[in-house]
Amino acid sequence: MPRPIEAVVHPGALRHNLGRARAAAPQARVWAVVKANAYGHGLERVFDALRGADGFALLDLAEAERLRALGWRGPILLLEGCFEPRDLETCSRLDLWHTVHRAEQIDWLAMHKTQRPHQVFLKLNSGMNRLGFAPTEFRAAWLRLGGLTQVESVTLMTHFADADGARGIAAPLAVFDAVAGELSGERSLFNSAALLRHARGDFGDLPARLQSDWVRPGIMLYGSSPDHPDTAAEAWGLQPAMSLRARLIGVQALRAGDSVGYGSRYTAERAQRIGVVACGYADGYPRVAPSGTPVLVDGVRSQVLGRVSMDMITVDLDPVPQAGPGSEVVLWGRSAAGPVLPIDEVAAAAGTLGYELMCGVAPRVPVRVEAEAD
Ligand SMILES: *Cc1c(COP(=O)(O)O)cnc(C)c1O
Repeated sequence: MPRPIEAVVHPGALRHNLGRARAAAPQARVWAVVKANAYGHGLERVFDALRGADGFALLDLAEAERLRALGWRGPILLLEGCFEPRDLETCSRLDLWHTVHRAEQIDWLAMHKTQRPHQVFLKLNSGMNRLGFAPTEFRAAWLRLGGLTQVESVTLMTHFADADGARGIAAPLAVFDAVAGELSGERSLFNSAALLRHARGDFGDLPARLQSDWVRPGIMLYGSSPDHPDTAAEAWGLQPAMSLRARLIGVQALRAGDSVGYGSRYTAERAQRIGVVACGYADGYPRVAPSGTPVLVDGVRSQVLGRVSMDMITVDLDPVPQAGPGSEVVLWGRSAAGPVLPIDEVAAAAGTLGYELMCGVAPRVPVRVEAEAD
């Protein structure tokens, strides 16, 4: 049999979470953000569950091509825009909408020959200082784009640095309002954290010029909370879209004083059973996860003991005395029996985010899409 580890993608959860994104801003159209191969879930695996979105947003032209190959004829947005002039030909051929965040991209458009005028998302740097035109340059860029025959529409866009935290979105919104508030065109401003914390179904009483015509949820679609530990995914009404499951392939009976694994990082204080799990950092489990990181064994909450190694981790069997070789171990997500271990708790123990864990599942882990009841 294959090594007992798999990642399971849950289409029902994806569909449910998309519904949560819609409910947070019912008047807006929704870009399902599927960059990074749908946050590690696989574009082809999530496509059917997320095709109820109004469009798909991603970065990679090859991923856009894959979406078209799946038969998606609706909008696709390139969140980083074109990387070189030739990419505009791909945009014309595949009808891709694209972000414009620096002046050179406008130069390329001005020289581009196309039968089909483009839908452009013009990005303002509202304080995050990654991509986007400075507030002093934004209006000129907007005017210039508006004058190009290659451009059909210009949507005004920005991205929030602190939507998940105490700083919130007031400051970047004020920048956006001062620079773009009076400009015509649709708006696209809200990621998952902004949607859940600040949209609340009515955009929190924002004036119409600051409301989003297009929102851009990513992480919430996959069932991880954008502001853990402030709010748990379950409290946001989100369901895990991926479960990483393995099995016990060995059990050791430790005596007091025995230690486990590389570096002998865990030493038993008394007689204790530990389970050996067919999952290690070469599967995408974080090596830095310390003793105490939660796992589910046969659906029961337990913990990692000792160092994560390349192909194995060792877990405490005290809470599950009946467990043995073949027992299910959930590294994150849902147990076959139902209980959930939130990916955000595992990520927090390892000092990272659910985003990184789901994007990092290794190619050697087989992925299965859960069958849905009709
Ligand atoms: C990734 C991304 C998003 C989605 O962010 P989440 O935090 O995953 O919701 C939205 N907008 C842009 C520009 C992005 O790059």
